[in-house]
Amino acid sequence: MSPALPRSTTRPRPRLVAVSNRVVHPRGAARGGGLAVALLDALRERGGLWFGWSGQIAERPDGRATETVAGEIRLVTVDLSSSEHEDYYNGFANRCLWPLFHLRLDLTTFDPRHYEGYQRVNRRLAYALHPMLQEGDQVWVHDYHLLPFAEALREQRASQPIGFFLHIPFPVPEMLTALPHHRELMRSLFSYDLLGFQTEADVQRFRDCVCREFGGQLRGNSITAFGRTLTARAFPIGIDAREFAKVAESPAARLEFQRVRENRKDRTVIVGVDRLDYTKGIPERFRSMECLLDRYPDTHGQVELLQIAPTSRGEVPEYMAIRRELEQIAGNINGRYAQLDWEPIRYINRPLGRRQLAGIYRASQIGLVTPLRDGMNLVAKEYVAAQNPADPGVLVLSRFAGSAQQMQAALIVNPYDNTAVADALQTARYMPLEERRQRHAELMRGLLRDDADAWRESFLEELQRCSLQRAEAGPPTAQAA
Ligand code: ADP
Repeated sequence: MSPALPRSTTRPRPRLVAVSNRVVHPRGAARGGGLAVALLDALRERGGLWFGWSGQIAERPDGRATETVAGEIRLVTVDLSSSEHEDYYNGFANRCLWPLFHLRLDLTTFDPRHYEGYQRVNRRLAYALHPMLQEGDQVWVHDYHLLPFAEALREQRASQPIGFFLHIPFPVPEMLTALPHHRELMRSLFSYDLLGFQTEADVQRFRDCVCREFGGQLRGNSITAFGRTLTARAFPIGIDAREFAKVAESPAARLEFQRVRENRKDRTVIVGVDRLDYTKGIPERFRSMECLLDRYPDTHGQVELLQIAPTSRGEVPEYMAIRRELEQIAGNINGRYAQLDWEPIRYINRPLGRRQLAGIYRASQIGLVTPLRDGMNLVAKEYVAAQNPADPGVLVLSRFAGSAQQMQAALIVNPYDNTAVADALQTARYMPLEERRQRHAELMRGLLRDDADAWRESFLEELQRCSLQRAEAGPPTAQAA
């Protein structure tokens, strides 16, 4: 990582303009997850504006933005029409970019109408934001819904530094180039000054793609293509581990802890917590549980997988299918192994509150996080932060989660290899206390060092550095066609 910019006490920090698909009100921030909390902290600190979709669908949106003021923060949102929601959000973002970037070409839908809707919404949102921008603002755009957002702002002659953070993995070039509009989308990324990715591997795939397909030239962290130069770097997203550890000790979390433990006496509880999504590897996880029961008879009556997976993107057909599939697999395994007072898999299909979740993490001897592909995976980090350091549980983590790059003290597994996952679960069950403590302490050190504040500050400092460099270099060259 490059050294931090010296903090000037006289120069005010630029105003932050955050842009994401959904805007979360500070009152609901805890439910909005790590991104909402991290952004709100930055917005509170320096004042600023958060802009995006309201989450509302209006039959005929008038295009006007709605503003709410919360302390130093302005929340500005616009509605989408139902066809915009269908094409931009359900269609191109969630049925094309999401599966493609997670290497599921088999689930990827290429529909020109979806793509046109995606471009149209990005332009409409950018045009709505542009009049609110001030000279000296820093603009920070989030995630795959908004890849062409900066290009649309630049069309309006926005000259502010604009950074982009991709929360999901960047695909291999062979995948990306299957996308009919990949050239246009890649070119539009070069309207940003800074691109942030979750891991070094994502940065490398982005570079490979730009160099191989578009003749990109590398110089340190800079990359030049389409007549423009930007910086591309990894900024692994973190959680507020200190705060989450406190949540796990709150009265509500303690209550949940007791409920889990009382009902299960000395059974081993394995916990899985995910949005119901085909990238999370939940069917494979159930199969690994079945393999554990097959291979190790001492688990019968003694081990339970508690899988919490609320429905997400329920309007998308691929998500309806995974829900049916999971119910069927869990039913088959339970039918085969259950005893009168024990079922090996308990599957809960609804969201839980943060404190409840923290209590369940702490009450579970094993955290099983086995996505087939994941940009980072914050559940792995939350599980570790919630543990009792004196008697911590063991994290079993997929090598295909971005977090595995930072969390090597977990038991790292291949989620496609049911036998290996079953063996890791059995190892975790019998891991001596001293080893559990050592692994937990090492993981916790990493979480405290690379937390949400460090992530946000390092990104915004780099964005400032990029804009200073740009100012020194003079006006940008014209964008190549
Ligand atoms: P993704 O962003 O793909 O959903 P992450 O693991 O990075 O995956 O983040 C998921 C976030 O959602 C975490 O903060 C987690 O606590 C929360 N979450 C996941 N499942 C549930 C659930 N059943 N109830 C409440 N929160 C959940």
